[in-house]
Order: sequence, then C-alpha cells, then structure tokens
Amino acid sequence: MEKLSILFKEAIVVTQNSKREVLRADVLVERNRIAEIGNNLEGDEIIHSQAGILVPGLINTHTHVAMTHLRGSLDDILLSKFLERTFALDAERTEKGIYNSSLLGICEMIDSGVTSFHDLYYSEDIIETAVRNSGIRGFLSWVTLDQELTTQKGNPIENARNFITSGSKSDLVSRSVGVQGIYVAGDETYMKAKDLASRQKTTIHTHLSETREEVYSHLKKTGKRPVEYLNGIGFLGPEVIAAHCSWVTLNEIRLMARNEVNVSWNPVSNSKLATGGTTPVPEMLSEGVTVSVGTDSSGSNNSLSVLESMKYGAISINNSRWDATVLGAQTVLDFATINAARSLRRNDLGSIEIGKTADLVLIDCSSPNLYGTTAENAVSNIVYSGNPSNVDTVMVNGNILKRKHKLVKTFDSLKKGDELR
Ligand SMILES: [Zn+2]
Repeated sequence: MEKLSILFKEAIVVTQNSKREVLRADVLVERNRIAEIGNNLEGDEIIHSQAGILVPGLINTHTHVAMTHLRGSLDDILLSKFLERTFALDAERTEKGIYNSSLLGICEMIDSGVTSFHDLYYSEDIIETAVRNSGIRGFLSWVTLDQELTTQKGNPIENARNFITSGSKSDLVSRSVGVQGIYVAGDETYMKAKDLASRQKTTIHTHLSETREEVYSHLKKTGKRPVEYLNGIGFLGPEVIAAHCSWVTLNEIRLMARNEVNVSWNPVSNSKLATGGTTPVPEMLSEGVTVSVGTDSSGSNNSLSVLESMKYGAISINNSRWDATVLGAQTVLDFATINAARSLRRNDLGSIEIGKTADLVLIDCSSPNLYGTTAENAVSNIVYSGNPSNVDTVMVNGNILKRKHKLVKTFDSLKKGDELR
C-alpha cells in the first residue's frame, strides 16, 4: 500500500537552508522525502503546527549510547576514578544489557528531538538491532584500540571490518570504524583503521585531546602533541570526526583545518568531568574547521539532550571570552544540524529543503516557557529556552517516532527491572 503523505500545516519553519530562512509555511512529506514547502498545500494526514516550530532533526555527533545505564553512578568523582570505574564496568557487560541500555538511550534521544546519533563502542552489531527496532538513524562506529589493551574478543580491527562488511543495508544505519584514542592506540591501529575506512568508504570516529593528562603524557613520550603526532603519521583527513579537541593549540587547529578534520564539541561532558580544557571553538571556526555538537555518554553527561548541549556550549564559551557575541544561537543550531550532516557526509540531512530526507522535529510553543515565539525569535527560543518536554513530534526517514509529546513505540524489553548492565 502506498504510504500516505504527511503535511505539517502552518508551522514556523526554521529551514537551515543556505540563507537560513525562517518561514511561516506548510511542509509536505511524501515517503521519506520533503516533497514541497509552501502555503495552502494538501496532504493525506495533517499535523496542525500553528503553535509550533519545525526544525531539522537534531544530530548528536558523539555518544556511547550503550552506556546509558551509567547515568547517576559516576557522578562527583575525579576523572581518574571515573575512567577506572568505567573500564571495570565495561568489561563485565551482557548482550542483553547492551541492547536494553542502547534502547533506553535511543528513546531518550528521540524524546528530546534527536533524529541521528554518531556512536562509538564495541558490540555495535547489538546497538544496530536497537537502532533498527526503534526507527532512529544511527551512525555506528566500531571502536578499535591496540589488541593487547582491549577487552573485546578477537582483534578489534577485524571486528570493525566484520561489522562494516556484514549485515544488510538499511536507510537508518551507517557503519564505520572508530579509534578510542592516543592513550590506547599506536600507529599501527590508527593506520589500519584509516586503511579500513578508505577501502570501505566510511568515516572514522575518534576521541582526541580530551584531557591535559592525555596531551602531556603523549608529548612526554613522543615529543609531539596528539594532533601534531597524528598529522605526522598521516592519519588526519576529511573522513575523521574527532570528539572533544579541548586541549589543542592554534597550530593544531590549523593542522585540523588543513586536513579538513571535523570536530564534535562536547561542552557538557567536558565541564562535568572538569577536564579544564575548553574547546577553542571560535578559533576553529575562523580557521574553517567544521564543528558539530555531541553529548558524550550518560556516564559523563547524564543527559543525551542536544538542546542542553547547544545552550550550555554557547553561553559557556561566551562567558569565558567575556563577550556575549562570540557564539550565537544560530551558530550552535548550525552545529547540531547542517554542520553535523556535513561531518557525517550526509548532505541530504540537516536542513528543511525540497528533496531532502524527512528527519524533522516539531517543537510545541504552547507551554509557558515558549509561548509567544515568533519567526523572528524562533532560533533563539529553541536554543535558549527549549527543553525536551517541548518536543511534540519527531519524524525520522518519514516515519513518526514521537507524536503529541509521546513516544509512538514502547518496548517490552524496557519493562521495569530488566537488565541494563
Ligand atoms: Zn566519548
């Protein structure tokens, strides 16, 4: 049976097109595409959107969704203790726990308007099942590190290769390779991951220069800072999406710009772990680096809300520069939509334009915290005043996953008391 068309009627449409137009318009979705944008359009199913803002689905470019069960169990401790406990907890997980914890994190993301996420973990095959069963879009990177340091069974590079090359095709799943970080991966792992990505035409997801400890131990060991080092071995390139980059120099930013490395900025996670470094986002932008936003895991953030990371990120950078004009609402919304789509090589996502894939979020402005929103202040209100409870409707690939503030699917596997570890 032909799928019915869906019409968002009379919304404030934050298009995120090249002119960053905000329109009062109807948006028609046919199958998984945006078919038309205009006035007085007709569709089979109507979503009355007069009190709402339609935005492109938010994209979380760095998380570990299978760690959602750690929420509330690693708080208010030193980073060294955090890492020690995380590694210990990671080593004793069950398949059921990984699946359920991933599903829980995915539900939290859909609930808060996230339509795509970029994940870094082992067992991505299990996470992929959770993605397919939920209907969210997953960019899944199988993490690699030196074999003698891993708790993965077998060789991490081979595991990543098997993950990328096996399994059926899906509109919702993109498989790629990851590298944990310079503290557990040597040249060989980095270059094998790069080779795998180039043969399979995938991106590479990695942690980079998150902590001072990481940077200075590497400097002591090799005489080079991590970004300089990775540039030296030929690892950097446009396929790399590097999370954090909080402890980088201007020279390193220039190396990243020259190699077209994409940065996923995780402001809430960095601050909560008190890593001290602040990602130099303004300098990255002026050097031409593509920056997006990530939440990191619930172990270090306790929330998978991109809305929260956008607000906190913008105001924390501005406060540290004593200048409220450095990063505005429009810039951080770009990070979470169009820049994230570009980083993930998916130009069909990240904006509301005819022909693009229908990943859309309707934000309801009838509650007190958003009441009175107009086309003029819609972007500001989303970033500075919006929260997950305002998310009315979430559509991924033309399918509705949340409607009238409620998740469409519920999962038996998330019944009270089920295994999350
Ligand atoms: Zn991370």
